[in-house]
Amino acid sequence: MNILVINCGSSSLKFQLIDAESEQVIAKGLCERIGIEGSRMVYQKAGGGKQTTEAVMDDHKAAIRMVLGALTAAGSGVVGDLSEIDAVGHRIVHGGERFASSVLIDDAVLAAIEACSELAPLHNPANLTGIRACRDLMPQTPMAAVFDTAFHQTMPEEAYLYGIPYEYYEKYKVRRYGFHGTSHSYVSKRAAQILGKEPGALKLIVCHLGNGASVSAVKYGKSVDTSMGLTPLEGLIMGTRSGDLDPAVIEFLAHREGKTLEEVMRILNQKSGVLGLSGGFSSDFRDLEDAYEKNTPEGTRAMKAFAYRVAKYIGAYTAAMNGVDGICFTAGLGENSPLIRDMVCEYLGWLGVKLDQEQNGKRGEDLIVSTPDSGTQILVIPTNEELAIARETRALL
Ligand code: ADP
Repeated sequence: MNILVINCGSSSLKFQLIDAESEQVIAKGLCERIGIEGSRMVYQKAGGGKQTTEAVMDDHKAAIRMVLGALTAAGSGVVGDLSEIDAVGHRIVHGGERFASSVLIDDAVLAAIEACSELAPLHNPANLTGIRACRDLMPQTPMAAVFDTAFHQTMPEEAYLYGIPYEYYEKYKVRRYGFHGTSHSYVSKRAAQILGKEPGALKLIVCHLGNGASVSAVKYGKSVDTSMGLTPLEGLIMGTRSGDLDPAVIEFLAHREGKTLEEVMRILNQKSGVLGLSGGFSSDFRDLEDAYEKNTPEGTRAMKAFAYRVAKYIGAYTAAMNGVDGICFTAGLGENSPLIRDMVCEYLGWLGVKLDQEQNGKRGEDLIVSTPDSGTQILVIPTNEELAIARETRALL
């Protein structure tokens, strides 16, 4: 069974065609600058090089038409025609309280995703555009929606409610939702496999550390807390996002800098995080690691604050679960940075954590990087959200 996984952003579209039985990627790529001058598609078939095609893509439908064209083209293509694509799995950012699991898409589901757009005005409309375009071009093909928020719908009320008047939850559903759920779910299940235990027997903390970053507490296979909130702005210090701060900072900055609410929010989303802390030096952790190794104040400040916040969340979630069996690192930074894992684990002596420095130096594979006598296991697990979406889609069919 061939499953096309689609991840639509406002001006981009990432795709992978996955053989659901062997779980191998058959072809993948992305379309960039959709609706903007200079749009292009990068396409790569398994075992082949990257092909870049510059072409006008006015909207997501044009982009999907190009993707389907590439997948079926003589020579570069991987399937004879569209009937060989058995299903499409769409990544959807916000499923609100309506979706606690993935679903097959029909008109009612589309309407419900649309109703969640208020909660994710930048993301859900782009996701919907992708679904509609696919349905137009492949009307017979079943499609699934896989939500970033769904895995966290198991959080108890005390974890998802904010300390604000309850009527705002009742009226507008203002609460913690959490994101990266597909990744937290995939990594926690994989961790159980690696540790040779059932998910239902483990208390795990998953640190998804990429440009966007979040931590989750996964108790007996279910998410019981996570650091992102109503939106992906809360929690860890990220590439460009502030993460947690005193809400009064917003009013203070608006007054002192003469900015509107929207302008301050843009600063918190796009100019903050390690980019802001490093004085605008970089939001890319490779640059910051370099700067940290060279002892520059920018790199040191940003890296230390980042690692400290991760460690603080691990402490909080250990308390929330009354213990922890394993701590998992994943995503761009979590998978590839021995330094950040070391900096975080420096705080975890109270959990008996001992890193095996040789194991910790390795990259790109599932690893236990703690010593056999470590009080808590530390794991590195490369995330694979596309594969998780393909699995969910297959299961629904
Ligand atoms: P997102 O999907 O949120 O854009 P990723 O999971 O791709 O993010 O992670 C991107 C981050 O991972 C970047 O800050 C990048 O610098 C960092 N990263 C990638 N490779 C490495 C590496 N080898 N060492 C340190 N950081 C890395």
